[in-house]
Amino acid sequence: MASFTLQGIPVSRGIAIGRAHLLRPAALDVQHYLVAQELVEAEVQRLQAAIARVHKDLQTLWSDLPQDAPTELGAFIDVHALILSDPMLSDAPMDIIRTRHYNAEWALVTQIDELSAQFDEIEDDYLRERKADIQQVAERVLKVLTGTANMIPRSDGIDERSANMIVVARDISPADMMQFRDVAFTGFVTDEGGQNSHTAIVSRSLGIPAVVGMGNASRLIEQDDWIIIDSDAGVVIVAPTSMVLDQYRERQTVLQKARKKLAKLKKTPAITQDGVEITLLANIELPQDAAPALEAGASGVGLFRSEFLFMESSGQEHKLPTEEEQFEAYRTAVQAMKGRPVTIRTLDVGADKPLEATDHNILNPALGLRAIRYCLAEPQLFLTQLRAILRASAFGPVKILIPMMAHGFEIDQTLAMIAQAKVELTLEEKAFDKDVPVGAMIEVPAAALALPMFVKKLDFLSVGTNDLIQYTLAIDRADHEVAHLYDSLHPAILQLLQMIVSTAQKAEMPVSICGGMAGDIRLTRLLTSMGFRELSMPAALLPEIKQEILNMRLDTLQGHVKKILRSYDSNVIRETLTEMEAVGKTLH
Ligand code: PEP
Ligand code: MG
Repeated sequence: MASFTLQGIPVSRGIAIGRAHLLRPAALDVQHYLVAQELVEAEVQRLQAAIARVHKDLQTLWSDLPQDAPTELGAFIDVHALILSDPMLSDAPMDIIRTRHYNAEWALVTQIDELSAQFDEIEDDYLRERKADIQQVAERVLKVLTGTANMIPRSDGIDERSANMIVVARDISPADMMQFRDVAFTGFVTDEGGQNSHTAIVSRSLGIPAVVGMGNASRLIEQDDWIIIDSDAGVVIVAPTSMVLDQYRERQTVLQKARKKLAKLKKTPAITQDGVEITLLANIELPQDAAPALEAGASGVGLFRSEFLFMESSGQEHKLPTEEEQFEAYRTAVQAMKGRPVTIRTLDVGADKPLEATDHNILNPALGLRAIRYCLAEPQLFLTQLRAILRASAFGPVKILIPMMAHGFEIDQTLAMIAQAKVELTLEEKAFDKDVPVGAMIEVPAAALALPMFVKKLDFLSVGTNDLIQYTLAIDRADHEVAHLYDSLHPAILQLLQMIVSTAQKAEMPVSICGGMAGDIRLTRLLTSMGFRELSMPAALLPEIKQEILNMRLDTLQGHVKKILRSYDSNVIRETLTEMEAVGKTLH
């Protein structure tokens, strides 16, 4: 196979080399995980048992048919029984389990997908329509399987196979991406998505190379193709020659060594050469991310995206976490951070993080009932979360962060809800920190423009640049068709950031950045020179940013910042930014 290269949008750092592992859309409707070697035969048996059970069900159905039942009905059951016995359906998925180590459900839908594609090509109408029968039979088997899905434990110690597998998919929802956290894939490649889509954010926090917005990679790449992801360049090389493979392996080794060196900075505070301390915090999605964040040298959690506790992957029955479950999750994160602050953001569902269990009819998700709007429309759910967060505050410093604030009354209602939660907990004699700071995400342009509204009523601010860019430039952050318009250096964004930081400084109000810009090393000099002193990012990016801070002097960069902020010319802004980068480098 000839080697070819595809270009996409880079979302994390590093190089991954491995074999393609194609995820078809249907595969996302069921649980998908890899089965450890020693459990493979048990998984095959689980599928065999499910097929046998469906055979039996079909027989019972047949024998229970009333005398006067139309003959087509019997024939119909016969066809299903025949399909079920066909090796294409009964044996092929078992082979997939044995060779690719997929769980039974995933193996079955993978095979059905392949069969369906073959059926689509058939010219004979009658035969083509048999595709529906195959799907119905598969669904029967899936139903039996999902009933027994928990009989086989998910393999924790995934064997080496997954260690060099790269997932290739049309798209992966943020919730499905969460499932991959337990499976040690080497990289991700998707056709859709933008740099700051939530799928990208999760893959970045996993710290593994990923490229999104590839257009049609999932059609061009085939199962088990060798691929290289150069995620710094946003490039995927398919079927590389051995020379290219060697080059990338060498680069990978160099990067690994550099990373090890950076890890030594863990305990070094992030202070510029002219003595300005920058607080580096971590963004986390689940409580178990807190320990690695501490390990990476984070001074705290600047953003705990709590909505990931509420999201289940497709195909699973949806259940919201109870107060107790949430409390446990928040407390785990708080305790793992050993006295460092944990900023818990209240539920930010909507947009590209849909909540399966919602009754609301949301017309335009990004502009609809998202985040605080959703919470205020569901006061009971909000109160439950606030109680859980407050209770966790008894175990270490906690801050409450409210997403997508735009109106004064949203602040008032939120503060009233927090007060109510406190009264309830006091009456129940449950411990909490009475002075828990409450802050707002500044991510809607209206909030940035009317910042004094927030300064009076809240304790801190955190800028969500991902949404600030999305809403200011009117670009859906998850849509790869407009990803080229998503520009963190657009003068409108820079002006808004400058307004935010200077208003906050005048009011002596702490302000951090927790959106993607905070973890973009090309912007570290610019943002800190503008006055931002707290940056929150995926833990994997933290050591590099710290290194950058240790190497620079803010007092040498002021002229460049002024020039950038005075300019409305994108070329001048970019050139000046490049000059800024060089200033730091000449110091050594
Ligand atoms: C942001 O919008 O920048 C942000 C940090 O929040 P999220 O990415 O979860 O929307
Ligand atoms: Mg946001």
